[in-house]
Amino acid sequence: MLIRGAAGMAAALALPHAARATGGIVPGDDDNGQPGASPPPISIRPLPGDTIRVLLLRARPSIELAALGGFAVYDGAGSTTPIFRAGPGQSRTFDASALARSSGGAIVEASGDAPLRVGGRPYRGRLLLFPDEGGLTVVNQLPIDLYVLGVLGREISPKWPAAVLQAHAIISRSYALGRRKDAAHAFDVYATTADQVYGGVNAESASGNDAVYQTHNQVLWYGNGLAAAFFSSCCGGHTESAGALWGEEIPYLGGVADPYCAGSPHYRWRSYVSEESLRERLGPAIASIGEISTLVPLDLDNSGRAKRIAVQGQGGQRDIEAKAFRNHLGTSVVRSTLIHRMQIAGSPDRLQPDPAFDDPSPAPPPAPPKNGPLAMIEGAGWGHGVGLCQWGARGMALRGGTAAQILSFYFPGTTVAAL
Ligand SMILES: [Zn+2]
Repeated sequence: MLIRGAAGMAAALALPHAARATGGIVPGDDDNGQPGASPPPISIRPLPGDTIRVLLLRARPSIELAALGGFAVYDGAGSTTPIFRAGPGQSRTFDASALARSSGGAIVEASGDAPLRVGGRPYRGRLLLFPDEGGLTVVNQLPIDLYVLGVLGREISPKWPAAVLQAHAIISRSYALGRRKDAAHAFDVYATTADQVYGGVNAESASGNDAVYQTHNQVLWYGNGLAAAFFSSCCGGHTESAGALWGEEIPYLGGVADPYCAGSPHYRWRSYVSEESLRERLGPAIASIGEISTLVPLDLDNSGRAKRIAVQGQGGQRDIEAKAFRNHLGTSVVRSTLIHRMQIAGSPDRLQPDPAFDDPSPAPPPAPPKNGPLAMIEGAGWGHGVGLCQWGARGMALRGGTAAQILSFYFPGTTVAAL
């Protein structure tokens, strides 16, 4: 390894006077980077069962680590002798210079059962540190079920019915297993909507724990293979087919009519954007058409989602891929490509909103811009719409549906069975 030896490591990893108490952490009395008086015995333990690596932070100038029971840092090349220890409650700040001579990075393990804290946020399992673009990248490696527990509380409310939590635990576990990569990759999944939102210990709940425990090892199968267990917030009444969205037909992701998600605050929505902002966000692709006068959803697929949006102005028409249109305007402005209608008018009072699309969100929808031409967009659902509809699953569970019934509705032809 490549990080210097223990004494040098302490000096290199710990910025002087960096130790301080963070939320819930007992302050350390040792500020010089040396281990506490009697550190608990520690060794690198293999993590039980299947694990997954979750990207927490990328290329940060520095990170602050602590654990109630202390922690140890090991050479990423596999040495079992720690190259740095922090005593119980000691907080240490590390920067990229700590790994300046390392190619294999470093492994951080908590001493005892208390989770490691990264910038004050607690995470189970262990941390992998890598030098990255002059900073430090932090990856959390932990058993799949503990990861799923940290996903459930971020993806759905722990107060939702147990059947939804169980169904989600099964698809989150299946999804994670399907995303694992080989050692050439530094991590398997993002902790964001790019994969599944993961919040570590802060996202855990008693109901989530029950759901993970009751579905332990259960995954979604199609034939002899793991099913691709996609999900999104609300499908707006019809789930999307994988073929229409990604160009790959998947038998159990062909799209189903969903009568169960009408209780979602995202079932129907309306957004406004000024014509000027619209032009700005759509960028050079539409620059030559001048002021935008009309927006038309084109090439509707079987679920009713648009594949392209025609943008018309005095200078002609440009067709933009609906996915790109949504991303340019913002995925919370155009919540889905299941668009009911789009209007452009010189002032808000000339628009004709469909009362059926009044936004029932608890937060009042943004008011239309007062001056100048503006666009109104009405649509249904939130997210890409492929696979399980979270709000629909909740609707099914409230009507007595079980986790197995929910999954066979949204993934027809699949089965739930042990890994
Ligand atoms: Zn739905």
